[in-house]
Amino acid sequence: MDETNVRPEVRAAPAYHFEARPAAVKLDQNESPHDLPGPLRDAALARLAAAEWHRYPALHADHLAARLAGRHGWPAAGVVVAGGSNVLIQALVVLSGLGRRTVALSPSFPLYAQQARLLGSDLREIPLGPDHGFPTEAVAEAVATGSGVAFLPAPLAPTGNAVDLGDLRRVAEAAAPGWTIVIDEAYAEFAGSDHAALARDLPRVVLLRTLSKAFGLAGARLGYAVAQPALATELRKVVLPFSVSALQLAVGEAVLEAPEWIAERVRATVAERERLAAELRARGVRFVPSVTNFLLLTVADAASVHRGLLEHGVLVRRQDHLPGLPGALRVTVGRPDENDAFLRAWDALPRANGVPHG
Ligand code: PMP
Repeated sequence: MDETNVRPEVRAAPAYHFEARPAAVKLDQNESPHDLPGPLRDAALARLAAAEWHRYPALHADHLAARLAGRHGWPAAGVVVAGGSNVLIQALVVLSGLGRRTVALSPSFPLYAQQARLLGSDLREIPLGPDHGFPTEAVAEAVATGSGVAFLPAPLAPTGNAVDLGDLRRVAEAAAPGWTIVIDEAYAEFAGSDHAALARDLPRVVLLRTLSKAFGLAGARLGYAVAQPALATELRKVVLPFSVSALQLAVGEAVLEAPEWIAERVRATVAERERLAAELRARGVRFVPSVTNFLLLTVADAASVHRGLLEHGVLVRRQDHLPGLPGALRVTVGRPDENDAFLRAWDALPRANGVPHG
């Protein structure tokens, strides 16, 4: 292969790593364990059947944007929809990070750093504080001068702990005018957190949301950004026209007709998270206090625990390759039967691995 036809930044960047593995109990991707109930699925299919497949969809998913805006009491012009929030992460680097700086926490969602590398933005990674806490002062200092985009997940990912609203406000207020401050709220529904007040008060703040977690639509690929209309208008220029298909819109709009179903699923997941946390605590397992739909555990030997669980049909995600997370495994909160299967598999792990059983 010709060594020069590809930009060196792309050649140097590692690919996004994900290894799909079949497993009876799949607790590795922080998905909703609940698929759409029959009537909602039928409603989505009816919308699909009625869609004009030979026509282009709305330029920027305008109707869905208006529905999502309504959930936040926000002007529709301030919502930008895309085929997954990961698409918006790339768009935000193009919007504000290209030829400038990208700030990401370390560890955090790997895509922020990966997109910065691919697009040649000057990446600055800031380590989490003690107990995986949000490093408020270090981030505030990093954005106090210059220009770029900062990605701040709240709740934090992949650790799952909460970020104080006051700390985010402190950072957003400290930012120099050339910064776009992105608060990635991928897991906010499980935390009951909402940072709309920050976006309302500060024109540089963008909130990022996904329909992949609480809405149970990881397979449909939908995410959105919330910002003041002037900033959203610029972001909309960067997102490719017609990129949200009629198929995605049909599914997203059907689910938004059933907010009570979404709220009920979130309540069930939060209850299961607390049950799982109590069970693990009783066994003496170390984990980060979580406000999300997953728990980050620390074990002596992540590889052997991962393998041992898989032998019992339970798939969790290794995170021990990430900086500052030796021995880390991430388990998604599943349905009660799945969580029971996880606990049974845990209790069957060989004690020789240094796995606490309580
Ligand atoms: N942000 C965070 C913190 C995530 O964990 C994820 C997915 N795991 C995403 C964004 C991307 O979500 P999606 O592209 O499915 O909307």
